[in-house]
Amino acid sequence: MKTFEIETLGCKVNEYESAFYASQLEKAGFCHAAKGEAADVLIINTCTVTNTAAAKSRRKINRLKRENPNAFVAAVGCYTQMLDEQQRQALHVDLIVGASHKDQLASTIIEAMNQKQSPGQKIDLVEESRDLTRFESMPIGSFEGQHRAFLKIQDGCNQYCAYCQIPLARGPERSQLPMEVVKSAQDLAASGHLEIVLTGIHTGRYHFRDTNLTKLLEMLLENTSEEVCYRLSSIEITEVSDELLDLMAASPRILPHLHIPIQAGDDRTLARMKRPYTVAQFEKRLEQIRKKIPDISISTDVITGFVGESDEEFETTKQTLSDCRFSFLHVFPYSRRKGTAADAMTGFVDGHKAKARTDELLALSKQLRKDDMARFERSQMLIEREEPGQKNWYIGYTSQYHPARIFSMTPLRGRINVKMTESADERYTVVVED
Ligand code: SF4
Repeated sequence: MKTFEIETLGCKVNEYESAFYASQLEKAGFCHAAKGEAADVLIINTCTVTNTAAAKSRRKINRLKRENPNAFVAAVGCYTQMLDEQQRQALHVDLIVGASHKDQLASTIIEAMNQKQSPGQKIDLVEESRDLTRFESMPIGSFEGQHRAFLKIQDGCNQYCAYCQIPLARGPERSQLPMEVVKSAQDLAASGHLEIVLTGIHTGRYHFRDTNLTKLLEMLLENTSEEVCYRLSSIEITEVSDELLDLMAASPRILPHLHIPIQAGDDRTLARMKRPYTVAQFEKRLEQIRKKIPDISISTDVITGFVGESDEEFETTKQTLSDCRFSFLHVFPYSRRKGTAADAMTGFVDGHKAKARTDELLALSKQLRKDDMARFERSQMLIEREEPGQKNWYIGYTSQYHPARIFSMTPLRGRINVKMTESADERYTVVVED
């Protein structure tokens, strides 16, 4: 039996796509290579979001073909999409795929292997990302060993924030057909998944004809069993509509957690980042969300050391983050990316300063998590698995997306009502609620 191995860099969407490639290869009769065993097929699912991610992608591509000269090596994704023809020519791989042709990756690999390319010959399927219009459907029927499943419903972005290469690396917005989304969710539900996370690059911009994200959620609620809950991976504040909030408030099956990237908490920084809101607008909307859904937790992304970020701007950002009472922060130091508006700006912040600011915000995130966790005495928890190395301890997340652990002598599964007994190290210890 032929074997494969996939190396994944970057975001949750990349992880999803790697899971899809694995499922397609398994369907075609391949199996995962055992640890330490040389695989017949190697896929590197690359990333370009930061300089470090791009450099790691480059190193992995170069290393894998050198160490596995007999394997079929495919480089896929955002890093390869951003390379010019000459740079792609220089890569030592058998197949290069960018932002398109991902849905046929497994069949392309199998066909190329059967045709036996001559050494040094490579297939290059990268095309201009701005021309992409088709959503490539990548359904995954089951996520083995997990109660939480992911479902990619959208790809690409038209927003062009000043620091971000994603619109170039993934192309324009495109969404999956609503009926296909429903069918994938039904398959996941039939495989026993109790929570489905709708994911994409710019999920809030999901739209297909007159079906927007709220309508899609309504269709999903209607067409899957009552025990299946939904979570949104991330959404922009400008896309949290009144109709979405009404639906969330009315349906306990849409879990009370939103991840809303703020990126900076100072109007001057936000304007340079080309983000489509001011701090006051963001805060006002947060208030409205919390009024409608009092038990919601809201987390966020922040970039430190963006071009021109002064000490004063950073202090304002820090204050804003506290005022907004986020449940936790994902903090990233700014990384200069070619082809973005910020790349042409002046006033780059010293790397050490950006790192110190990142550390400060990570410390703040711990405090914010603690404060948010203290708001809840009860919640629901989706059991994910037994904690590695901890017999009879089970781990999972609460509805508000805080990590939790629970002790049980009998195996636990599914979603349970829990009472919090303790919270330490950004995690609850809980017991089953009587
Ligand atoms: S919304 Fe902005 S940050 Fe997010 S993917 Fe689009 S351009 Fe990048």
